[in-house]
This record gives sequence, C-alpha cells and structure tokens, in this order.
Amino acid sequence: STPVAIFCALSEAAMTGLLVKGGEYLEILAKVKTMAFDKTGTITRGEFVVTDFQSLCDDISLSTLLYWVSSIESKSSHPMATALVDYARFHTIEPKPENVEDFQNFPGEGIFGKIDGKDVYVGNRRISVRAGSTTVPTMEAHTMGGKTSGFIYCGPSAVGVFTLSDACRSGAKEAIEELKSLGIRTTMLTGDCHAAAVLIQDQLEDALDEVRAELLPEDKARIIEDLKKKKKGGVAMIGDGMNDAPALATADVGISMGISGSALATETGHMILMSNNIRKIPEAVRLARKTRRKLI
Ligand code: ADP
Ligand code: MG
Repeated sequence: STPVAIFCALSEAAMTGLLVKGGEYLEILAKVKTMAFDKTGTITRGEFVVTDFQSLCDDISLSTLLYWVSSIESKSSHPMATALVDYARFHTIEPKPENVEDFQNFPGEGIFGKIDGKDVYVGNRRISVRAGSTTVPTMEAHTMGGKTSGFIYCGPSAVGVFTLSDACRSGAKEAIEELKSLGIRTTMLTGDCHAAAVLIQDQLEDALDEVRAELLPEDKARIIEDLKKKKKGGVAMIGDGMNDAPALATADVGISMGISGSALATETGHMILMSNNIRKIPEAVRLARKTRRKLI
C-alpha cells in the first residue's frame, strides 16, 4: 500500500498542476543530480515569429513559396509550423493543406509534401540531405544573431530561406539557478542550431552548466543514456512532448511540460506539468525531497 506521506505528496503535487504517474517517481526525483531540458517549448516559449522570408529563385514568387510552405506546414503541429502559417496568412496567402500529398514529418529535421506536382522540403540544414542536395545556402548574417534558420527545397534545389526567433520563458533563469542551488547540474539539449542555443544560454546569463545543439530525437535519448551511466544520482529530462518522447522515456524520470486536454492520455512522461510555469520544476524537487525525509 502507498505510504500516507507519498499519497499526500501526490495530491499536493496535483493541486499545483503536476501529475505524477506513481509514487516511485517522486522518490527518484528526490535523488536526481542531473536535469536535461529541451529548448523549444520548454526553456523557450515555443512561440516563433518569422523574422525574414526570401525566395532564392527568380522564377518562384514569394507568394508561391508562402503557399507551398504554409500548406505543407498546416499538416505539422511543430511551433515553427504555426509561425509559418500565421506569416503566410498575414501576407494574405491562404494555406491549402488539401492540395498536399504524401506529407512526411522528419522529427528534428523538418517536413516534406508534394504540392501541385512539386516535391517540397522545409526544415533545418539536415533537410538538404532528404531533398537530395549536397549544398545548404549560407545564412551567416542571420544565424549570427542567434536566429533559427529554415531552408526550402524544391526537389534538390534550394529555393528559399527564412529565419525565426523565439524567446525564453519568464522564470527560466530563476528556475535553472534554483536547481543549481539544490545541487542539480543542468543541461540543455536541442535540435535547433548552435547559434540559437548559444543565444538562449546568453539570455539565461550562462545559468546552464552545458548546452548541446543540432541533436536528433534519438541523439537526445543517447545523451540521457550516457548521463545515466556517467553521473551519480538519477537523471531527469524535461521536454514539451514534441519530438522528445524517446529522451523522456529513457530518463529515470521524464517530465513533460505544458500538456493539457486530450494530449494527456497518450503522454510519455512519468510526470506531467499541466502549466507552462518552469519554476514548478524546482518546486517539485523540493516537494519530492520533503516527502523522502518524512519516509526515512
Ligand atoms: P527542439 O529540440 O529545440 O525542441 P525540435 O527537435 O522540435 O527542436 O526540432 C529541431 C529542428 O528541426 C528545428 O529547430 C527546425 O529547424 C527543424 N524542424 C522540425 N520540425 C520542423 C517543421 N515542421 N518545419 C520546419 N522545421 C522543422
Ligand atoms: Mg521541443
């Protein structure tokens, strides 16, 4: 039977919006020494804004490009997809997802769709390989500013580029610093480019102990596996559920953030934070430690 202290802690957690799928996860969380955070949607708000969008081809108009990209991105639930669809609408281009065939999602890379007979790929520099290209347009000036760059390919030709920016969640710096004061090492794992990862680390005033970028979902899981082997104490992973399922499942305790409604039932995390308040993470650690002290 569940000890009363655990039962009380689980209800206390639930009241603050943290669902725990079993008392054992609180016990593990109490001992966690390393926490890995996803970037997009976890440390950042996951609310991208398109800051630049260009055609690289004289015979493909900006409107055509916006129509292709927004129609295909309409089929994705990635935060970048939402931003690109909004951007097209702002430029009075209505996405037509019904014209897209053979849609494919490449987690950590981007997407593909056939539209009006054209094979269109949208994503980060990795998508060039999917498109069958060996070159990626240079975007030095933009990535210098820490923006996320995106590339559009029509078949193997690069036909467009765009940039997006996102912002840190409020309280992210405080949450990371609080974890540090609790003796927990923090690391950020992201599929985004190095420049974007470094900008976030700057905004956090170097609060994170480590930052790793350009990772695929399976790379994140492998890093969690390595941390479990090398570091003493447990490893927690905090993600937004988008492309993070393998890492969340690999961690001793996986915490998914900002989940609500129908997504709850299928969620991979051992703990689910029902709000976007990242400061609930150190709070959960304190609660877990308090409960553990009551049990010994
Ligand atoms: P993070 O690890 O920061 O949460 P993701 O794993 O979700 O990032 O995605 C990694 C990268 O893959 C993104 O930064 C983006 O460049 C690219 N990407 C993923 N999905 C899409 C999409 N639907 N459209 C464009 N780019 C995408
Ligand atoms: Mg993410």
